[in-house]
Amino acid sequence: MNTESGTRYGSAALDRPALERAAKLTPALRACLLRSRLLDGVTGDTLHYWLNDAPVRWIRQGETLICLGVAHHTLFLVLSGELSVWLEATPAAAASERHVAASAASAKKQVARIGPGETAGEQSLIDGQLPNAWAVAEEDCCLLAVPAAMLWQSMQAEPQVALNLLRVLSARVRKANAGFSEAMAHQQRLTQDAETDALTGLYNRRWMDRHYPRTLMSQHMDPRGASILMIDIDHFKRVNDDHGHGVGDQVLFQTARRIEFALRPGDLCARYGGEEFCVLLPTVDLALATRIAQRICASVARQPFALNTGATLPVSVSIGVACWDQQESLELLLHAADGALYQAKRQGRNRVIAAQRPVLV
Ligand code: GH3
Ligand code: MG
Ligand code: MG
Repeated sequence: MNTESGTRYGSAALDRPALERAAKLTPALRACLLRSRLLDGVTGDTLHYWLNDAPVRWIRQGETLICLGVAHHTLFLVLSGELSVWLEATPAAAASERHVAASAASAKKQVARIGPGETAGEQSLIDGQLPNAWAVAEEDCCLLAVPAAMLWQSMQAEPQVALNLLRVLSARVRKANAGFSEAMAHQQRLTQDAETDALTGLYNRRWMDRHYPRTLMSQHMDPRGASILMIDIDHFKRVNDDHGHGVGDQVLFQTARRIEFALRPGDLCARYGGEEFCVLLPTVDLALATRIAQRICASVARQPFALNTGATLPVSVSIGVACWDQQESLELLLHAADGALYQAKRQGRNRVIAAQRPVLV
């Protein structure tokens, strides 16, 4: 250790009632401190300070160490016990009493745990901002509570402390990024689940409402326009009544597969609801859309559906086709296709009817 006068933690520091302070740290706590990332490779007077002079603080389980929005000017190094970190508390809760703040924090989202050898509060010390999270004791904790001024002095006296602190922060940023990526992936899964029909695996109405208008807009300048098919299984109620709901579900699933099989990758197929399906065909005019619809109609009717009971069941669909006039809303376009579907039902089912509408010039 450097004992020259003028050094920051020279002999004066040693002469102080250092033994009394050292007595606060049991050998286990000292070992924990020596293993901490912040003191990795740190020697000499600086280490002496951290081991012997830095204030030790005990907090009880449930006690709030750091309040969101409340300045603290201290770096906390956990020597025993564990802290939990919580986000999303309101500024009002942060400004209230500590115990109130702690209970408010417990209702919020826990984002991290800080165990022995790890630090809390360093970010606020470095950027001078107020804490953006709570730190609460998960169990009784022993902490080294290093005042900001002492931390700066340690860093000036020994750059290794600054380097270690950078590493601590870097690890924290990486962890936060990983958490962020995970949350994004989770959100994507939720969105996908919310927009997918569980029975057929097709997209649902909600997805349609989001994607169809966008696709129509992107077709605005394309002279071929876009067309829509409304597909409805014929006498489906009878299938349920005669063979049970399970068979009805199989028919829905297999109909979806036959429709998909007749489409191009860019066509947008969805379960519209019940036993109705909807397909948006970008860059397809009425004539081509009608041919595609006939292909679907024939492929459903041609071969009876094989059921998991071993039996087979003839199924047919009726389809209404409408071509987008490059101006109308999705609602009106669907309405036109629905009208054509109604005609197909009226004319005997298992057929395709194209909506005849005035052509814009
Ligand atoms: P149409 O030829 O005129 O279309 O007659 P339909 O019997 O197909 O039409 P209707 O609207 O009378 O009956 C549709 C049936 O579809 C009634 C409903 O119970 C059934 N259904 C709707 N969703 C499901 C589902 O998810 N599974 C099963 N198994 N049945 C469903
Ligand atoms: Mg129907
Ligand atoms: Mg039907």
